[in-house]
Amino acid sequence: MPLATPYYLIDENALDRNLAKVDQLRSASGAKCVMALKAFSTWSTFAQIAPHMDGSTSSSLNELRLGHEKFGGETHAYSVAWSDAEIDEAISYADKMIFNSISQLERFYDKAKHLPIGLRVNPGVSHSHFDLADPARPFSRLGEIDLAKVDTVIDRVSGFMLHCNCENDSVDAFSALLDTFEVKLGAYFEKLEWVSFGGGIHFTGEGYPIDALAARLKAFAEKYQLQVYLEPGDAIVTDTTTLEVTVLDIVENEKSVAIVDSAVEAHMLDLLIYRQSAGVAPDAGAHHYVIAGKSCLAGDVFGEFDFPAPLSVGDRVSLLNAGGYTMVKKNWFNGVAMPAIAIRRRNGEVEMIRSFDYTDYAASLS
Ligand SMILES: *Cc1c(COP(=O)(O)O)cnc(C)c1O
Repeated sequence: MPLATPYYLIDENALDRNLAKVDQLRSASGAKCVMALKAFSTWSTFAQIAPHMDGSTSSSLNELRLGHEKFGGETHAYSVAWSDAEIDEAISYADKMIFNSISQLERFYDKAKHLPIGLRVNPGVSHSHFDLADPARPFSRLGEIDLAKVDTVIDRVSGFMLHCNCENDSVDAFSALLDTFEVKLGAYFEKLEWVSFGGGIHFTGEGYPIDALAARLKAFAEKYQLQVYLEPGDAIVTDTTTLEVTVLDIVENEKSVAIVDSAVEAHMLDLLIYRQSAGVAPDAGAHHYVIAGKSCLAGDVFGEFDFPAPLSVGDRVSLLNAGGYTMVKKNWFNGVAMPAIAIRRRNGEVEMIRSFDYTDYAASLS
């Protein structure tokens, strides 16, 4: 019997394809790659992913603990702000503590000083198409901006974290950003043991020149004699996962609207936040449909696509690229049934690894 929709379907062969690119980048550049769990925390896949990476990085205590317990390797601890209540536990899991500000560094330095200490620095430049996701936006709180203050703590830090890219698919744009970092921060790089360039580099995308990126990173590491880190999140799972849904009804209102057993806001939230469309393959044919969710939100629309044949109630639709920033953001809005999580094994067999029911819904509130 086929699995009941909705469910996220993670494809092991597609993950292998991305992980081979991670291997290529690591070996050609010497850079270490730690997985940013914020983008994807579906830990049943970590046994496949972790051998191709150097560890994980986090944006909260929960992610840090998950990385420590289920990913292994080097566990980098970063959070925009640690609380007094969580700092001791955070330090207990961490191999490196990366503070977002000098005030946090000074507040917790004595507790953390047995570990390598990093500081997130905001160089004031970035590559992002969205103001919402731009760490260099006005009044940004993401990383220390005052270099005169950085001078006062530089002897206490062994590395910087500079996360300034979002979906950057251009090696030239990345390289130009690095040129700017060198002009602004070169004197610090001379003193540091490591620099992390964060995430947001889309090096697993089709046709990305991995060797050119690797050469740039290697030259940088050799020039300053330091270890480069990257923190890919989305890039690890790009085009590995679909959201499998079923058509429940088709209504007509100038266009044919197929309502499916999912909801954009609940299951692919970033499409709404960044006003993007989902994808289907091949998205070709004479039959045009709006694919819409079943929540009561008027704009609950995955996108408009072309299909080779008319859709009918009961038909399956696969929404593409549903791995990054989906499962980590799913929610119970409208009480819409939570998609299960399934893995297509290398031999093609699909295995359900987690499903959710009313008990989970009720347990998420009180
Ligand atoms: C979000 C984030 C990442 C991962 O970004 P991707 O775009 O998913 O690669 C890495 N590092 C930091 C500090 C982040 O905030």
